[in-house]
Amino acid sequence: MVRPILIVGAGPTGLVMALWLSKAGIPVRIIEKNAGPGEASRAMAVQARTLELYQLLGIADRIVAAGIPVHAMHLRRGREEVATLPFSDAGQFISPFPFILSLPQDIHERLLIEELSHFGVAVEWNSELMRFRDDGDSVSAEIRRPEEDEIASFSYVCGCDGVHSSVRQGLRLEFPGGTYDQMFYVADVVASGTALNQDVNVSADAESLLLGFPIRSEGTFRLVGIVPKEFAAKSPVDFEDLRPLVKAQIDAEVQAVNWFSTYHVHHRVAEHFRVGRVFIAGDAGHVHSPAGGQGMNTGIGDAVNLSWKLGAVLSGTAPESILDSYEPERIEFAKVLVHSTDRAFRAVVGTNLQSRAIRRFLVPRFGPLMLRLDATRNVLFRLVSQTQIHYSHSELSEGVRGSVQGGDRLPWLPNSDIYDQLSSARWSLICIPSGTSRVTEMVGRFGIKVIDVEFTQEAQSAGFAADSAYLVRPDGYVGAAFDIHEPDLMLSYLEKWFTLSVEN
Ligand SMILES: Cc1cc2nc3c(=O)[nH]c(=O)nc-3n(C[C@H](O)[C@H](O)[C@H](O)COP(=O)(O)OP(=O)(O)OC[C@H]3O[C@@H](n4cnc5c(N)ncnc54)[C@H](O)[C@@H]3O)c2cc1C
Repeated sequence: MVRPILIVGAGPTGLVMALWLSKAGIPVRIIEKNAGPGEASRAMAVQARTLELYQLLGIADRIVAAGIPVHAMHLRRGREEVATLPFSDAGQFISPFPFILSLPQDIHERLLIEELSHFGVAVEWNSELMRFRDDGDSVSAEIRRPEEDEIASFSYVCGCDGVHSSVRQGLRLEFPGGTYDQMFYVADVVASGTALNQDVNVSADAESLLLGFPIRSEGTFRLVGIVPKEFAAKSPVDFEDLRPLVKAQIDAEVQAVNWFSTYHVHHRVAEHFRVGRVFIAGDAGHVHSPAGGQGMNTGIGDAVNLSWKLGAVLSGTAPESILDSYEPERIEFAKVLVHSTDRAFRAVVGTNLQSRAIRRFLVPRFGPLMLRLDATRNVLFRLVSQTQIHYSHSELSEGVRGSVQGGDRLPWLPNSDIYDQLSSARWSLICIPSGTSRVTEMVGRFGIKVIDVEFTQEAQSAGFAADSAYLVRPDGYVGAAFDIHEPDLMLSYLEKWFTLSVEN
């Protein structure tokens, strides 16, 4: 019998991991030291790539229906609008979700918990991981529970336990990086004003920066900004201290404050994401500025990357060596993300002359010019939406056909249903042109689903080449690309990453 996987922490990372594995039929237990689901709205921005991953799980429609799709970003100098980035235009040929979904983290987590219940899995609240030991072929873990502590044995342990991760500490992994000097605030408010609407609004001037976007019901907004130095020393800072500043920045009338919090921003990446049978994912492995709405989305990306590999190993369809690809694929992106958000963040929110000049002149003067270019809009959309993430350097990635190479996210074709046909449960083979060939016959015994695609102008523009076979991983990334006339190359790839004894 397969021992369950222990998932530590029921934040978005742990919940998505539990969901993906449960859907694959892998036994999991998910423990959470808190007494119940989180109540803070924290992460609001759900990016397009996360929704694409949810489409693989079959839950994208429900998640989208629960939030507000934000279709544009407006750049303002104080109250005056100076430029617009319409995500819908920029992303319309890139993703089926050309927007940022505004969905409070607490609602998001509750939806995931509900989805998990359909597989008979419930979060074990009031249950805290105290200690663990990797015994080579299993991991024993001590869990503190209200009634009685428990020691149990698991196949693997996944630390999705946030920035203060006890799993990371138990593995004695360094978490190098730092903390920014500035104090930030986040306020969920009922408010009105011209600079608050159903889109993202970024107001910058020499002294300050303020982000506003819609949440929950009409007239409710999330404001994120910098606490001025004169208040930062005060403890605690409250919204009333900042009300005049907000009024001056965006001319908003704030009628009610539903949630207010201040925080310092860290930027850190753990030295490793795995030691033996124990993994870390999400904030346990990386933290950075919440500006750009990347943190939770990156954690969900980690969860998906690790889950399908663990699922394949435990169901006997992949060799254990496939797990070695988790850290290189995800730590690389985490490092780039932390480094780039660090540079952008310092430049934009700093208090030195250079940062003030960026806010006062560069953003309002050059921002509009840059945002008029399709190329800039597309690059920005790909960056923020996380659709540009690729694993081309991974040991799992092989070959290139057209401009699509092993490790790329499978390009989306607006007029095809390829994305609908992909599944979180199995690999797929995109075969161009459609029809039976040696490669399509070959993949049947590996349990791979064949998806026929015509070689249209659209497929060519998206980067696909004729006479090609693209093996797509359960997470929607191309594992390998081959010429259909070279089936032996594909066979050796399949023999390396699939366990032949298991056929389904
Ligand atoms: C104000 C703010 C705004 C943000 N906005 C965005 C945004 O718009 N978009 C975005 O992508 N990200 C955003 N983020 C970041 C986002 O909230 C985090 O990246 C996300 O919550 C990380 O999820 P996680 O599951 O990895 O960790 P967490 O959400 O921290 O969950 C970890 C869980 O593990 C539990 N736990 C810890 N130790 C143990 C233990 N020993 N035993 C059992 N349970 C344990 C904790 O109680 C916790 O519930 C924002 C963050 C903040 C603070």
